[in-house]
Amino acid sequence: MPRPLCATIHLDSMQHNLARARACAPEAKVWAVVKANAYGHGLERGMKGFAQADGLALIETENALRLRELGWIKPILLLEGIFDASDVPLLAEHNINSTVHCVEQIKLLEYTQLYRPIDVHLKMNTGMNRLGFKPDEYAAAYKRLRAIPGIRNITLMTHFANADELEHPRLSVAEQVERFVGGAQGLEGERSLSNSGGVLHQAVLQAELQNDWVRPGIMLYGGTPGGRTAQDFGLRPTMTLTSEIIAIQNLVAGDTVGYGSRFEAPGPMQVGVVACGYADGYPRHAPHGTPVIVDGVRTSVVGRVSMDMMTVDLTPIRNARVGSQVTLWGDGLPIDEVASMSGTIGYELMCALAPRVRVREGRLGTHG
Ligand SMILES: *Cc1c(COP(=O)(O)O)cnc(C)c1O
Repeated sequence: MPRPLCATIHLDSMQHNLARARACAPEAKVWAVVKANAYGHGLERGMKGFAQADGLALIETENALRLRELGWIKPILLLEGIFDASDVPLLAEHNINSTVHCVEQIKLLEYTQLYRPIDVHLKMNTGMNRLGFKPDEYAAAYKRLRAIPGIRNITLMTHFANADELEHPRLSVAEQVERFVGGAQGLEGERSLSNSGGVLHQAVLQAELQNDWVRPGIMLYGGTPGGRTAQDFGLRPTMTLTSEIIAIQNLVAGDTVGYGSRFEAPGPMQVGVVACGYADGYPRHAPHGTPVIVDGVRTSVVGRVSMDMMTVDLTPIRNARVGSQVTLWGDGLPIDEVASMSGTIGYELMCALAPRVRVREGRLGTHG
């Protein structure tokens, strides 16, 4: 018997969420972001779930090549661009679009003969201060790229620091858009600005924002980029993590549970031991009170999460038994809720799903 812990990936929800992204930005082509193993869902499942996307975006050349081996024929974008001269011929050979964010990458493209033209995304740093050319350096970088014979289309790109909070007091989206428009003035090419936050606020931004390509990630996986909940945005969970109760302990007042004896029973009660721990990707920092569903009833984590197991309060559960079904997140329990209780974001929990967790595909509502 396999361990009962299992992540069910809902390809139908992935399709639904992609359609939501399109509805938010109907004029734009969509790069579905499948970096980090498709946010923990598996690269191949990302490819299947987002088959209707216009392109797939990720980080590593080797995973771009894997997409080609798996049969993806539409565009692919490397979000951090190339790392080394040996990557350049691969761009041409496998028709991979690369981000260009620094002078070193331009040099690599200048020095290596491209035997077939490639398309690039030229990145502007509009305040994120991670990657990209400053607005006043941007036109020069563009001209230098334009002079390379093997470069075909140059898409103008930037990334928002606060698309989940448009009016951020330190750096608003409007400010970033303004810097972008200023730096890109007079330059030919399609434009790509929005991540999930930007896509979900596209209606608000539309007036100022020309987005030929959008780059949603988290929203496609049924997570919220922040601000409102995924459900408010009409997004559906794409990953449901389920397990079972593998042991039950009957406690009396004063009994403690788990490492650090952090939880002390206030009176007689039952706790259930769930086959799922931090080595599976469940957050160790999930405090007492983090929601869990047992046999369809909401209850909560008690005691400290350990490597392979965690303990939950069975008080509200009727007839709990070894074998009772547990949902850790997903269908009926938003991953963002578990994440925020644990001081993190849904992104991190999805990406941290451990390789030892069994993964299967199933429609939303049919797991467990
Ligand atoms: C990860 C990433 C995205 C997607 O961001 P989400 O917040 O998950 O939508 C978009 N663009 C770039 C450049 C990224 O690195």
